[in-house]
Amino acid sequence: MEAMILKGEPTGQAQVNPLGVEEALAHARLFPYWLDSQAAPTPLPPLERPTRADLLVVGGGFTGLWAAIQAKEQMPELDVVLIEAGRIAFGASGRAGGIISTSVMHGLPNAVRLFPKDIEALERLGQANLDGFEETLKRYGIDADIEWNGEMTVAVDDAHLAHLRDDYELHRRYGHDVVLLDREQTAAQISSPLFAGALWSRHRSGIVHPAKLAWGLRRAALSLGVRVYENTPLRRFVDLGSLVEAHTPDGRITARRVLFGTGTAKVGLPDINRRVLAVRDHVLATEPLTAEQLGRLGWAGRQGIYDTRTQLNYFRLTKSNNIIFGGLVDYHFDGNPNPAQDEQRETYHRLAAAFYRTFPQLADVKFSHAWGGPIDYCSRGSVFAKPYLGGKAVFVAGYTGFGVAASRFGAFMGLNMLFDRDSPERQLDIARKSPSYIPPEPFRWIAARITFHAFDGADAEGGWKRAWIKGIKALGFPM
Ligand SMILES: Cc1cc2nc3c(=O)[nH]c(=O)nc-3n(C[C@H](O)[C@H](O)[C@H](O)COP(=O)(O)OP(=O)(O)OC[C@H]3O[C@@H](n4cnc5c(N)ncnc54)[C@H](O)[C@@H]3O)c2cc1C
Repeated sequence: MEAMILKGEPTGQAQVNPLGVEEALAHARLFPYWLDSQAAPTPLPPLERPTRADLLVVGGGFTGLWAAIQAKEQMPELDVVLIEAGRIAFGASGRAGGIISTSVMHGLPNAVRLFPKDIEALERLGQANLDGFEETLKRYGIDADIEWNGEMTVAVDDAHLAHLRDDYELHRRYGHDVVLLDREQTAAQISSPLFAGALWSRHRSGIVHPAKLAWGLRRAALSLGVRVYENTPLRRFVDLGSLVEAHTPDGRITARRVLFGTGTAKVGLPDINRRVLAVRDHVLATEPLTAEQLGRLGWAGRQGIYDTRTQLNYFRLTKSNNIIFGGLVDYHFDGNPNPAQDEQRETYHRLAAAFYRTFPQLADVKFSHAWGGPIDYCSRGSVFAKPYLGGKAVFVAGYTGFGVAASRFGAFMGLNMLFDRDSPERQLDIARKSPSYIPPEPFRWIAARITFHAFDGADAEGGWKRAWIKGIKALGFPM
């Protein structure tokens, strides 16, 4: 077959792919790889009558599931109901790359930037969170294909090596088991012409099958007596004074406390959508690599990997050796949760081009799945919990793309607020402060469009794009 230049790529940087991105994506299912599985449980019936609960959890992603489990484990006397608008894990949780990050704060540098005086306590809480995460999976026999191989950040340019060196020093200062790799050492871990070096954090992080994790947590919640209703969207709620009445299409829940783990959705809480920006991220899954194709890559360590680009890519292997390759963020007006673009194959061409540019030796590999998912972006880049309705309700979100393990911590923080329990994080700014407001539409859309346009060329071109991103950073947004 005649070689073809990837569309949309400046010819100077293009890699030649004998298939072309269109052909490589021609048979990809536009649906998350993780959810396209025989292991997906049959949905539980919706709520069809009025009921009462001590705790109502709204949302059946990681936050809601961890909240329901921790509530029952710590306060077994509570009657807990969880309602999910669609199916468990069909939000961000079943669409994630599935890289387990050590930090509950979108990385140690972000934590130091935001909460310098609390950093030691946050590190301890992060460790306790991962201990609890691992113990819970063992306790309930949840097999989610976890591999604790660490997380690695790869520099795609010599100029980015300085950032890695700074991060290395920082991680060492806080006792992390990290190694700094030069170009050759990085190539021995994973082969790409782009990688100039890497920072490998070797413990307390790795990769997980996110949907299997969510389905396992659902099973654990049911075993603890949580009543779970799928296809049961919360339509509205009424503050009755000492109780909250939540209305669903065919039912009603009267609850003492409500925890919202609804991510980017609009659920009628005042001001929350001014603090959370609903961004779309995109992911590809390749067909399973053969042993020979895997040999061209190396990657014996099977780490979860992010690169240092402003419009970053992240990648990892599955148990069957498909590569999951993600990272093309975009924003649609008013945070549209179902953008038509996600259902169009062309949307994924640029991501496929980035894949072949990163791994030109895999030019014969095609994609089996392509999908988009919601990121709950907030100005601090990490989870927050905010009380509402005089403390009867709490909203937990803001992971900004790093919620696979941090969601357990977010749920924990939310429950402590909701039930007014003493806990170390309540003394810290992480629990006391909320992220700042993001301007409303249409300014939000305009600023987001400019920012994502700037993302695309900032590293290579610099100029106004880099200046714009610096300005956004200076306003406190993580980049
Ligand atoms: C493409 C992508 C890649 C990612 N990769 C990673 C990664 O590699 N590592 C990492 O740590 N994090 C990653 N993340 C982030 C991570 O997936 C999220 O932070 C995490 O899943 C958030 O969980 P959640 O339960 O808060 O939200 P969600 O999983 O979105 O759950 C919210 C749930 O609430 C439900 N809901 C909404 N409104 C209502 C209503 N009115 N009534 C009832 N239910 C409602 C939704 O249907 C949804 O199921 C990624 C996210 C995306 C989208």
